[in-house]
Amino acid sequence: MDGQPDEGFDGDAGSERDLEQDRPHSARMYDYYLGGKTNYLVDREAAQEVVGLFPSIPAAARANRAFMHRAVHYLASECGVRQFIDIGTGIPTTPNLHEVAQLVDPGCRVVYVDNDPLVLMYADELLDGTPEGETHFVEADANSPEKVLRAVRATESLNWKEPIGLSLHALLHFVPDAADPYGVVGALVAELPQGSYLSLTHCTGDFDPESWAAVIDVYVSSGTPTQVRSKDEVQRFFQDLEMVEPGLVVAHRWRPEPHSGPSLHSDAAVSLYGGVASKT
Ligand code: SAH
Repeated sequence: MDGQPDEGFDGDAGSERDLEQDRPHSARMYDYYLGGKTNYLVDREAAQEVVGLFPSIPAAARANRAFMHRAVHYLASECGVRQFIDIGTGIPTTPNLHEVAQLVDPGCRVVYVDNDPLVLMYADELLDGTPEGETHFVEADANSPEKVLRAVRATESLNWKEPIGLSLHALLHFVPDAADPYGVVGALVAELPQGSYLSLTHCTGDFDPESWAAVIDVYVSSGTPTQVRSKDEVQRFFQDLEMVEPGLVVAHRWRPEPHSGPSLHSDAAVSLYGGVASKT
């Protein structure tokens, strides 16, 4: 559908904000890859171009989402994490992070952060958690970690003496070197209490550099700074942290569900690293 997304569109909220329907947005393109309907024609055209260049991008997006589910479930069920900060949340897609965490313990608290106005518009769907728990959405730019932290603290929902799960899934490839991504992650991790965890995924050109160079061109030429990174470069985000087994791997290889059988996709088809580490 043109002009506005298909689902739950709130025209009033939209009219107050510039949704930039004249250029593709990463959150809306990702929604398209996942089969969602919260995207505009301009997003679908750019996303289809990416599909032409890298046909397994929808499978990679699903593998990313599945990693987030497994990582959050692991942190809540096996590490006892009860509070999460999720930066680069994306347009709501069930199950959302709080639903995964609150299934383990309804008391889990989640603060979502994104800088996309359309994600903000749909944020209500992220706030429908359990009565025992708490969910918040704050609008902030990851490139300014101090502002992100201030906004997250202002919700007063997290206990900064207890472990926090910091979730940066499919975010950091939108933070180019010029914006100091290692400084961003370092500043965020520095604020986390001991015993906290960092979980992240990141696209890579390691397996298919030419296709990824072309994909990056689609994003950059439409105004979204984007950068893929090598395994070593992604590993560097976990500096001074202790990797959880099996370390940094292609996302579908990270603690696959028991009995799920071999992955249907090759590492090249997924082209996304994922890892979890603890702050000891
Ligand atoms: N984390 C979700 C969504 C990933 S899509 C998942 O893994 O399924 C990437 C998201 O990051 C988009 O919603 C986009 O709006 C957001 N994003 C990109 N750059 C950002 C920035 N500088 N600050 C905050 N959010 C950002």
